[in-house]
Amino acid sequence: MKFHRWIDGFRHNMEVGRMPYHWPADTDFALWELDVLDRECRHCGRLCHVCDHRYRRLHTLEGPVELVCKLDHCPDRTCPGHCVTKSPEIEVTIALPKWAIGWDVLCWIGQRRCSRHWSISQIQAELWDSYGIKLSADSLARYVRHYQAMLAARQEDPEGLRRQYESVDELILSIDGLQPEKGHETLYVVRELSQKRVWFGEALLSATANEVRRLLAKAKEWAAALGKPVGLWLSDRQDAFVTGIAAEFPGVPHRYCANHFLRDVAKPVLEADSHTKVQMRKKVRGLRKIEQAVLQRRGVAALADVDQAAAEATPAAAAEPSSPPQETDPAGAVVLDYCAAVRGILNDDQGGPLHPPGLRMAGALTEVRSSLQRNLDEKKGGSQKSNWAAWPAVSTVASTKFGANKKRSEATSRTLRRSRRRSIPTAGAPPSARKSSRA
Ligand SMILES: [Zn+2]
Repeated sequence: MKFHRWIDGFRHNMEVGRMPYHWPADTDFALWELDVLDRECRHCGRLCHVCDHRYRRLHTLEGPVELVCKLDHCPDRTCPGHCVTKSPEIEVTIALPKWAIGWDVLCWIGQRRCSRHWSISQIQAELWDSYGIKLSADSLARYVRHYQAMLAARQEDPEGLRRQYESVDELILSIDGLQPEKGHETLYVVRELSQKRVWFGEALLSATANEVRRLLAKAKEWAAALGKPVGLWLSDRQDAFVTGIAAEFPGVPHRYCANHFLRDVAKPVLEADSHTKVQMRKKVRGLRKIEQAVLQRRGVAALADVDQAAAEATPAAAAEPSSPPQETDPAGAVVLDYCAAVRGILNDDQGGPLHPPGLRMAGALTEVRSSLQRNLDEKKGGSQKSNWAAWPAVSTVASTKFGANKKRSEATSRTLRRSRRRSIPTAGAPPSARKSSRA
């Protein structure tokens, strides 16, 4: 009953602000014919006749579908049932009226948004990539709102709740406030932890003891409606929680949330960790200088290349841009990659009490150090007759993404060796001499 009223309001809302969906001309639709199942006229009992067809197109996860809905009415012109058409009952189980998508697509969208927290643009891209379904950001946002409305209605449906809690002996409740942005109202959420389920949430502009108490009283009503005892409450130590729970649930144990507890216990550890981080940052310095040196050397090399090209080529060819500096300076690219990786490590603040950021930083820096050491070792032990013909291949390997495999470290050490040898003529010899040493 309630659901039908809700659906009616929902249909009404659907009409507002809806744009017709545009289908490309070459769309290949699967045809689904739908009949009215109950064909008896509800006024006179005669068999109804098909009087019209309604065509409807929509996306499903299996591809585009065209619904052919056969509409019935009573053949007796004097019967009130003659003026009323009946639609196939099954249509709403495929998609609600006016939707350009089926329930399967709606559920797919809702699950990505609400359970995996994907952004609208991410959902949009994935729908297109995986299913060839093209929806505007506006329509997607609207479908997400529909999904949320249905989810909320379902979450608070007492029948569904009773079914879910049939086999539960004892409830474990928690309450917490989440502030999406400073100055905004805080969302207070009551959850039941044995079934890992949100019971209800309310945005409170001011979380006074009375307001919070009202939520706790509501939780008490829900528990009473289920006929289940509350075995435990969990929350942080906000005064309103402590006093409210004691008042509404006398005798029920109230435990401080383990996560908050851990955070507080970890405070001294995190302080020490942060101090270590500062020390490490002090020690690993001078990235900018190294990068500037590489860039400066590249600038000189690029200029020299342009001069060379201008001297050798016809005027038309000389006007073309020279090749990008990365290709002529693989060693520099590797050095810049190292610098970028180390800078990323120094700026990384991720991690919590169980994975302190300083520990992560120390681990990452150790990896970089051993990577550099591998290069140095290879340089010492490696044969001196390096194969110069292999250079073009090496430059592509060195410019690929940072990784710690053996192949890369070989390439790195070779490019480093090469840069050392190149750097000797750079000091005094003219650019042309340097260039000829490569051939
Ligand atoms: Zn009739």
